[in-house]
Amino acid sequence: MSSSIAAARIVILGTGGTIAGRASQTGDNVSYTAGQVAVADLVAAVPALNASRLEVEQVSQVDSKDMGLSVWQSLVTRLVYHLGQLDVASVIVTHGTDTLEETAYLLQRLLQPAKPVVLTCAMRPASALVPDGPQNLSDAVAVAQQAQGGVLVVCAGQVHAAQDVAKVHTYRLDAFDSGDAGALACVEEGHVRCFRPWPGGGTAPGDSARLAQFLAIDALPRVELITSHADADGTVVRALLKWGAPRPVRGIVVAGTGNGTVHHDLIAALSDAQAQGVRVVVSSRCAWGRVVPHPGLAFEHSSGLSPVKARLALALDLLGA
Ligand code: ASP
Repeated sequence: MSSSIAAARIVILGTGGTIAGRASQTGDNVSYTAGQVAVADLVAAVPALNASRLEVEQVSQVDSKDMGLSVWQSLVTRLVYHLGQLDVASVIVTHGTDTLEETAYLLQRLLQPAKPVVLTCAMRPASALVPDGPQNLSDAVAVAQQAQGGVLVVCAGQVHAAQDVAKVHTYRLDAFDSGDAGALACVEEGHVRCFRPWPGGGTAPGDSARLAQFLAIDALPRVELITSHADADGTVVRALLKWGAPRPVRGIVVAGTGNGTVHHDLIAALSDAQAQGVRVVVSSRCAWGRVVPHPGLAFEHSSGLSPVKARLALALDLLGA
């Protein structure tokens, strides 16, 4: 670690999640309320972090299952501010695990930060007998000090890229995976061991006109996510087409079977949607792999993005951000 980095500040933004969760009984890892403990207290609970130049700020206190535009806008605003400070080396965001991959994707797409933005989380609440949040937070500080840029996710000793990471387990402490791409690095006793190059960050905080547009809206363009499955029909799609003001559907992402295949009854309904100007993108409901492009695909593919990330990508495309 260079002395200039050691001297620089790291800002930790709290947004809530299980890492800040509290249960009424110690040892209860599932019946708890997320977003209860202040980020300042989460940091204070890790004495080893006293040596680092940390600054904390509470952006929100939400269960990330309820994540939405207004919290994202607050988070982006504070990230742009802090990343723009010369003496800030990196920013850590504490976040719930449920929608962490969506926030990570959104931040990478909007900010492409030249400095590291490190999201971390926990699968057990802060009140647990053996919480995982303190170690994840400590690992996130190590990554924030040693990474080169881009939006990263740190959980259970692994470092993932925003583009690839997905929550894949409901309960295990190592709940995240990067599929075919694999983790970027691991953290061992505070040392970051890289497996592949860090994702490129930009040279400056995102395109300012696009950012301003994102920060000014009060709703994203409506993009719905549906799944193809045995016995699927087009009822959901036809109901969406009837949906009118104030937010008519502008896009539909379909989590297809296998390599982006879609039930023929659903194809018929989605083709009608397309004919009415709705953009349709196909991803895959498989946990691993991408939709491999081929001429027989019924709709445009998601360029390797998972269904939830493809939904966000399409909404941002439609916004022009
Ligand atoms: N529901 C919680 C959240 O996403 C789950 C977690 O953080 O693990 O905020």
